[in-house]
Amino acid sequence: MGGIFGVVSEGNCAKALFYGTDYHSHLGTENAGLAVWDEGFSHTIHSISEAQFKSRFVGDYKEMTGHMGIGAIDDDSPQPLIVRSKFGTYAIAATGLITNKDELTRNLLRNDDSFNEMAGGGVNGVELVAKLINRGESIVDGIIRMQRVIEGSVCLLLMTREGIYAARDRCGRFPLSIGKGICGAESTPSYVAASESSSFPNLGYALIRSLGPGEIVRLDINGIHVECPPGAEKHVCAFLWIYTGDPSSIYEGISVENARERCGRAMARNDRIEADFVTGVPDSGIGHAIGYAMESGLPYRRPLVKYTPGYGRSYTPPSQDIRDLVATMKLCAVRDVIQGSRMVVCDDSIVRGTQLKNYTIRKLWDNGAREIHVRPACPPLMFPCRYASSTRTISELASHRAIRALESERMNPIDEYLDHASDQYRKMVEWIRKDLDVTSLKYIHIEEMIAAIGLPEEQLCLFCWRGR
Ligand code: SF4
Repeated sequence: MGGIFGVVSEGNCAKALFYGTDYHSHLGTENAGLAVWDEGFSHTIHSISEAQFKSRFVGDYKEMTGHMGIGAIDDDSPQPLIVRSKFGTYAIAATGLITNKDELTRNLLRNDDSFNEMAGGGVNGVELVAKLINRGESIVDGIIRMQRVIEGSVCLLLMTREGIYAARDRCGRFPLSIGKGICGAESTPSYVAASESSSFPNLGYALIRSLGPGEIVRLDINGIHVECPPGAEKHVCAFLWIYTGDPSSIYEGISVENARERCGRAMARNDRIEADFVTGVPDSGIGHAIGYAMESGLPYRRPLVKYTPGYGRSYTPPSQDIRDLVATMKLCAVRDVIQGSRMVVCDDSIVRGTQLKNYTIRKLWDNGAREIHVRPACPPLMFPCRYASSTRTISELASHRAIRALESERMNPIDEYLDHASDQYRKMVEWIRKDLDVTSLKYIHIEEMIAAIGLPEEQLCLFCWRGR
């Protein structure tokens, strides 16, 4: 995953850049960087795998000055990069996934190109994006051409001395929002672009709009200039509303928190569970659980509380050891709430299921839970994401472990497991329930999830669940 933030301002933008980028810390735990323009480009990049963004960059940002800046937090590529090109020098930050990266790299090398920046033993994806842009007739033409040749998805911010270009991926899978400074925090004109609109209000910016799919705008002190209008084809990642997005963000005009509450309500509507209370696995299960509580009339309680300082999401770190350590440490059981209780536990999703089982369910049983009814707010995940970096592989998914265990002799077409009315689906869910060791397990249906998000189905990416 990853997130990007950019700001143009008449005054020094360093503080807004620092805090705005920090508001993307839930989207990555490996690399982060800031770049500013102040009669020249300067930038700083650090690993954040063993320290939070704020502690790594607090000293840097206080020494930075500039009227424009871009920042990134990303698991794959150290960035932003400063690039010298035929268009002049620019700084670039990009997030997403290029699945034909090797092929594009080979093509460039065959044409006598070379790469300076390496990431994780391979070419830095941001440098590849820059090289593809540099082949265009102009920066905008280069971005359009780059978006055409890559497979996957790239959102980017590109800062020249004239302004910041903000470009959303071709199908609008991931968000890029534009904000404008409002009176108070910013007395001079100022504009921002960010993956998360939740980064705007506390810095004194109002959300103006989301960029459309493939849209390119240039931000400068005079306003927002459309350089390439949005395309017609839109497939926004449904998982943003379910899990990856910040609860206070708004995508496509739809609040993440409201969508999560609607998911919870949908799960409660057809559920006939006798329970003492509802709870959500912190943090991203909480909105779903509040919706469930509102619809069911059951009280919301906290059998598990998250020790917040310092612990990010547990699925993001690429190493299993670190994921396990974070998962063990970050949730603390409240024994007096748990003991003897029957509880509905809402979670955003079940990926591998191992962390839910080992670090959530086990803590509840160990502290005397009587019944645990798990309600995931998205259907069984059947396919790994092919548009953003993700640590899940198909063989690790709980659904595939179930199918492998159930299909010892023949491999049923996976389609039979996608239909929640099928016998195979029921057997798969029952296998996962036993594996998780819970009293009951009931997933939201895909139609309910789509309705809860509120975008037309054809405008959503549902690849995780349907494989198309
Ligand atoms: S494949 Fe899944 S996580 Fe990736 S963009 Fe589509 S819905 Fe989102």
